[in-house]
Amino acid sequence: MELTQKINSVFAERFGGNGTLYASAGRINLIGEHTDYNGGFVFPGAIDKVIMAEIRTNGTDKVRVYSIDIDDYAEFGLNEADAPEQSWARYIFGVCREIIKRGGKVEGFDAVFAGNVPLGAGLSSSAALESCFAFALNDMFNDNSIDKFELARIGQSTEHNYCGVNCGIMDQFASVFGKKDHLMRLDCRSMEFEYYPFSPKDHVLVLVDSRVKHELADSPYNKRRASCERVAKRLGIETLRDATMEMLDAVKTDITAEDYFRAKFVIEEKERVLAVCDALNRGDYETVGRCMYETHAGLSKDYEVSCEELDFLNEVARECGVTGSRIMGGGFGGCTINLVKKELLNDFVEIAKKRFNEKYGHEPKIYNVIISDGARKVSDAE
Ligand code: ADP
Ligand code: MG
Repeated sequence: MELTQKINSVFAERFGGNGTLYASAGRINLIGEHTDYNGGFVFPGAIDKVIMAEIRTNGTDKVRVYSIDIDDYAEFGLNEADAPEQSWARYIFGVCREIIKRGGKVEGFDAVFAGNVPLGAGLSSSAALESCFAFALNDMFNDNSIDKFELARIGQSTEHNYCGVNCGIMDQFASVFGKKDHLMRLDCRSMEFEYYPFSPKDHVLVLVDSRVKHELADSPYNKRRASCERVAKRLGIETLRDATMEMLDAVKTDITAEDYFRAKFVIEEKERVLAVCDALNRGDYETVGRCMYETHAGLSKDYEVSCEELDFLNEVARECGVTGSRIMGGGFGGCTINLVKKELLNDFVEIAKKRFNEKYGHEPKIYNVIISDGARKVSDAE
């Protein structure tokens, strides 16, 4: 509630009175990595780390917005030529523009916002920011006539067209559709999705952020993609979504060993997501955890997108008896996501911090996360 009060008082100070409060959330992805561009499944959920904004129409054609966390103010019009300089403000400008481009309505407004989604840690603070404003502007100016998928696409297009980030749809999808105690299996081919219960009694989720990012020269992401496309083509299918290990083994001698292992990971990862769905329906968190370790091994050995520091954190988790642990996100740095028995949490966190620090000279950051609601209205103007 501290966040709410802070925003309330800064809004009153800056603009006078009150606006309406909206929020949206960052996200985790439990399993399903490097599957989106292969037409497979991802398995995200929104978390209890949010961006919250207080907003009120101002009767002009200008947007006036203050970012508490960055302590910066931006003012801009709503035409394409009015793009603000500040990169944080372009997320909001982009959302306005993408709504307008789709025939929606946006008028001038005043806003103050702040959040507690760590920036650039892989929890998608940018999607939280976009979907907070997309949800709010839909409610304020469009009678909620824009459907939720379109809100997610508005966020995604904002990244593409105004922020120079060529992202997929998962982050914005999770941020918009997130529901307390539920993860979502999103089919990246059909865009169908299903909620699965995620409310472990004995386990918690904790992220361990290595705070390393290896910038690699030869665009490993594009190379992975190209491998997957080559194998799919060889198999005569559109994406590896339709491949099986039998199909892959049948062409093993025609493709490079590298392409073989890349495709093997993708095929196995799809199976693992389905296994996790079954396990969650049974409340079987041990199986979920086992699948997470298998994903890590696949990402590290077959897909080769891990790094020394993340493999080290994964090993420490295993030694501590953590139920499941894996790299979260594209790889080469960032966080591991860990499913940890409650009684082990403190020991694990202390040991991971200490041992990582001894080896790499800095402590990882720790984020406890609870699966929570995504975009929403928090309260009406008083
Ligand atoms: P992430 O992985 O967290 O999404 P990005 O680099 O995609 O990292 O997005 C981070 C950017 O989003 C920040 O540089 C900033 O422009 C904007 N942003 C995120 N959270 C906030 C915030 N609380 N206040 C202001 N801007 C924010
Ligand atoms: Mg982002």
